[in-house]
Amino acid sequence: MKIYFDNNATTPLVKEVLEAMYYDFDGIPRNPSSVTSYGREARAHIIAARREIAEFFGIAPEEIIFTSGGTESNHLLIQGFYQKKPGSIITTAIEHASALEPIKRLTKDIVYLPVDEKGAPSPSLVEKAITSKTSFIFLSGANNETGVKIDLEEIASIAYKMKVPLLIDGVALLGKGLFTPLPLGVSGISFSSHKCHGPKGIGIAIVRLPHRISPLFIGGHQERDMRAGTENLAGIIGSAKALSLIKKETIEYVESLRNYFEHRLFEEIPSIAINGTDPRSTNVSNIYFPEVDAETLLLNLDKRGVITSLGSACSSGTLEPSHVLLGMGLGKERALSSLRFSFSRLNTKEEVEKCLFHLQAILYPATR
Ligand code: PMP
Repeated sequence: MKIYFDNNATTPLVKEVLEAMYYDFDGIPRNPSSVTSYGREARAHIIAARREIAEFFGIAPEEIIFTSGGTESNHLLIQGFYQKKPGSIITTAIEHASALEPIKRLTKDIVYLPVDEKGAPSPSLVEKAITSKTSFIFLSGANNETGVKIDLEEIASIAYKMKVPLLIDGVALLGKGLFTPLPLGVSGISFSSHKCHGPKGIGIAIVRLPHRISPLFIGGHQERDMRAGTENLAGIIGSAKALSLIKKETIEYVESLRNYFEHRLFEEIPSIAINGTDPRSTNVSNIYFPEVDAETLLLNLDKRGVITSLGSACSSGTLEPSHVLLGMGLGKERALSSLRFSFSRLNTKEEVEKCLFHLQAILYPATR
């Protein structure tokens, strides 16, 4: 197994989750919408999983909509809240493409809040941007490339006070910081199970009551008429299991590992800099290596069995500098010399040390 430091792209599926999912891989054809005993049994499992997930977030089970992942959850929330009140959308230029693109498709009336090199918009600018035309505010709870967190409590209280829906992309936040119960003022939030050791192709959109949104998919009554389509039973069961394994101690462990990595990296290669400032989610280090071509470094690390990332996997392969780092005003040179390391609870200090060894060997070959 390679050293895997790209956990913000996807995480390893853990054994406990896989075992829970086996329930629906036994060849019994269970459709949760069917009134037969097979169907009722499947429905009971979905009800139990939904209840467990609701308890995890401190919300009502009816507030959960199961989707096919973070991308669909973002699309669903964005179009659903826009239809309730078409108007102007407040966001930033450093959101994930699965939010930026559907927003651009809806309207040209977009207010992009500035983010400086800290990497998150300031709450006072959010407040100033709100007008009577505002449809909703859409922000990532934590940026998936830098890990920088927004001041969720403060922005949520502004949204609540101003009665404007606040929609959050929570994909890079889930399991990487304690943020439950969800603050009042967050009207919708999206999650993806494969980012926290669950399966791919399953996600959650939370729509807080009393909001109801119109569906993206119609033609079935699943998910309280907000998402038609036969439920992904194994995925739902696997998601509930994956969330049940998120513990304060594991989050703290990952944070200490990330901090250890950065501390040792500064010792070994003092010229580096961290992109983005605290508070950051606990598992990400986005590192600037001056005068180093990040893509070459990534490929050399990969050859030596260390997997990292140039930023968002969805835009890699294009050789474009990261829109997040550019959006933070860090410049093209810095963006093309930056690498993302993202950790999970499965990583160890030994792996960090091996990674540092390989980094030294690649960057300073004469000394090794
Ligand atoms: N939002 C963020 C912040 C992400 O990092 C990702 C995945 N790269 C998504 C949304 C999309 O999630 P999914 O892969 O489940 O569609």
